[in-house]
Amino acid sequence: MRKPAGEGGLMVGFDAGSTEFRMLRSFSASIGADPLLVQGAGGNTSIKQDGVLWIKASGTWLMNALTGDIMVPVALEPLLDALAHRSDAAEKAGQFTLEELNPRRLRPSIETTVHALMRQKVVVHVHCVETISIAVQANAEALLEERLRGLDWTYVPYRRPGLPLAQAIAERLKPATSVLVLGNHGLVVAADTVAEAALLLQRVTGLLAREPRPASAPDTDALLRLAIGSDYRLPASTAAHSVATDLASCRIAASGSLYPDHVIFLGVGSTIAGPDENAAAVVARSAVAPTSILFPGKGVLMRRDANAGAEAMARCLADVAARVDGSVRLNYLSPKDNAELLNWDAEKYRQELNRTGVTLQ
Ligand SMILES: [Zn+2]
Repeated sequence: MRKPAGEGGLMVGFDAGSTEFRMLRSFSASIGADPLLVQGAGGNTSIKQDGVLWIKASGTWLMNALTGDIMVPVALEPLLDALAHRSDAAEKAGQFTLEELNPRRLRPSIETTVHALMRQKVVVHVHCVETISIAVQANAEALLEERLRGLDWTYVPYRRPGLPLAQAIAERLKPATSVLVLGNHGLVVAADTVAEAALLLQRVTGLLAREPRPASAPDTDALLRLAIGSDYRLPASTAAHSVATDLASCRIAASGSLYPDHVIFLGVGSTIAGPDENAAAVVARSAVAPTSILFPGKGVLMRRDANAGAEAMARCLADVAARVDGSVRLNYLSPKDNAELLNWDAEKYRQELNRTGVTLQ
């Protein structure tokens, strides 16, 4: 849709320098730099002003919110209308972009509909590892009941991000709901100012925090030996190793994929090396060389060409698994869920941006 600014109640000459907008960019950059809240291009923030929803662009990184132009303007009412009519146009939201205010031709986040549905002015969506570690447990709702008492929160069972997730949210959302816990996915908080949203995020993440299980240090000498003769190397972050050095975490990872960005950036599930296997042997028995390989008790190796998004997700897996209660039943993404994520055009676009490094500018 290309609707001239000012028509139909839209604002004329949006003030992108407004205090709230500047505060949102600054807040976005700060949460984007915290790997326990946001990993790579995951997570997004938005602000509604005069009928326009300014939302993080697909594939861009929140950590670049102050240095780069990462926000896209979307006409709010037409998008909500498309959503109410279950129109496919709401899936990517691209046709509601106000192109005259979008010189870089960025595409809105694939999660734009989540932000549009919340009535509050400021919406913050993060892949908070504390939240995800609870939201993958089959007893998530009972745990949330205990920890979020007194807040206006709603639990939304896992649906594929995009239209299915938006519809699941729309069915459960009440006017006062300001906290959404998305099953196998993450957290949304909403408020009428950036400062209130920041406080609410801090409060909820504090209430959901759990002590990570301690893990032994990686055996980097052994890992470097296991990488000989292969295209594998050590991960960028030493924190990524604990998913393999802590055997309870390793078992959790071995059973499948727990949240969408894992599938998108690391592939379905995790590849675990056998006791006598080196990286070359793992590759020889795999249809596709895995992005990462877990060596139980020793640590993790990454494929040499693994990008920054994959690195961020390798660390995220360690951070999530260390907080998951291994004694309770977990909800893994189903084969159908995995397939939906990997065949999704909008995701392919996001991966391509990530691969080419466009988003790092
Ligand atoms: Zn998300």
